[in-house]
Amino acid sequence: MHTDSSIAKPSVESFEAIIVGGGMVGTALCALLAQAGMQVALVEAKPAPLSLENATSQLPAPRVSALTPVSQRLLTHLGAWPAMQKTRVTPYQGMQVWDAEGSGEITFSADEAGVAVLGHIVENAVTLAALNHQVVGHPNVTPFFGARLQALQRASSPPSKQASSGDWLILDDGRQLHAPLIIAADGAHSVLREMAGIEVASDDMQQEAVVTTVTCAKSHGGAARQAFIDGRPLAFLPLTVEGNDHYCSIVWSTTPEHAAELSELSQQALGETLGEAFGLRLGEVTACDKAHRFPLVQRHARHYVQPHFALVGDAAHNIHPLAGQGVNLGLMDAAVLAEEVVHAWQRGAPWGELSTLKRYERRRRFDNSAMLGLMKGFKVLFGSHDPALTLARNLGMSGMNQLVPLKRVLMRQATGERGRLPLSCR
Ligand SMILES: Cc1cc2nc3c(=O)[nH]c(=O)nc-3n(C[C@H](O)[C@H](O)[C@H](O)COP(=O)(O)OP(=O)(O)OC[C@H]3O[C@@H](n4cnc5c(N)ncnc54)[C@H](O)[C@@H]3O)c2cc1C
Repeated sequence: MHTDSSIAKPSVESFEAIIVGGGMVGTALCALLAQAGMQVALVEAKPAPLSLENATSQLPAPRVSALTPVSQRLLTHLGAWPAMQKTRVTPYQGMQVWDAEGSGEITFSADEAGVAVLGHIVENAVTLAALNHQVVGHPNVTPFFGARLQALQRASSPPSKQASSGDWLILDDGRQLHAPLIIAADGAHSVLREMAGIEVASDDMQQEAVVTTVTCAKSHGGAARQAFIDGRPLAFLPLTVEGNDHYCSIVWSTTPEHAAELSELSQQALGETLGEAFGLRLGEVTACDKAHRFPLVQRHARHYVQPHFALVGDAAHNIHPLAGQGVNLGLMDAAVLAEEVVHAWQRGAPWGELSTLKRYERRRRFDNSAMLGLMKGFKVLFGSHDPALTLARNLGMSGMNQLVPLKRVLMRQATGERGRLPLSCR
């Protein structure tokens, strides 16, 4: 019979913050906290990510994001942007959006908006590799790659007798991690959010995104383009590979049935279908990669915070990709949460306390709700076959196209240029 002392006790490792989820948002948050001096654990289910040298191949990866100038500034603040720029990013100075059902069209340009670029299209793997470069090897970061979560244990029921402020994460190999603040950055299907008992409001958009990469006969000319075809936004996002500006990343948000049909086409037939649906604006599609499908469900957590616990990024809100805002909003969550937490930590206040975390929630929830609502509105407006609505949206788009001051306001919204990057990150 074993006595207590003969059983190997699981070791407890203590940190000032634990982040679960090493996607773009969790890793950016980790870098922000570590660079401010906090001791952080980063728990990620996947093995260590690719290095910057291996983050790209000749054909751009299918998962890309349109990063706003504000996200770019945050990534610059973290030291990640120069490496991303060196690896592969594609700036765009123009945007065209049109209604394939009518004559409505609206164009935006960086000149009109008074900015150098409207944004950059970047492969997610490039952003993640550059962020990881900032955290792996950092003296304040302990990464746990390939780690699986078993349980979240709250201060009210600690796994051992010691009393402490904060919660415990139990990994499936028995290791116990403790911190006054645990942050879920584990994406849309967050297991940690579920363990914490935070509910989400879900809105199935009854669409799937079909994603691929194409080469077009004409150059993209540094513009991001999106057509609304029967309420199904089809985006051709510019990508430049070693000076070749004929590549585009495709996101077609469409009905699940249509997505299934598209993904069963041969690559050549898919390319032809995409080119025609796009009205051959960039000429014929001359090459097309495989299609990938992503179901589109908007979700919003009912709360972002609990004592010693916070949600960021897709774990807090999951948004339709038509305006390319998901990771941009998530990076702003990271910046605001880091500002509140670091501020408390620096003055010796308890940084995992609800009052500190509530300030983060108050500062982020409104922006995120507004964007989720806007995406829902777009879907209703552009999905409608009502002739009055079709006319109104076409007149609205064309009319708005003449109104430079109004367009400037819209552009500031789309580029994230409303001065919301926290002071600590400027
Ligand atoms: C088709 C499409 C196009 C998009 N385009 C854009 C765009 O142009 N611009 C934009 O801003 N956004 C865009 N988005 C949204 C964007 O991709 C997401 O908002 C962003 O990836 C969310 O990042 P995240 O770090 O919060 O979550 P994720 O990227 O989902 O990362 C979560 C991480 O947590 C890890 N994880 C999960 N569970 C566990 C666990 N139990 N334990 C440990 N680790 C775990 C995962 O392995 C993953 O690494 C698009 C989305 C789609 C579907």
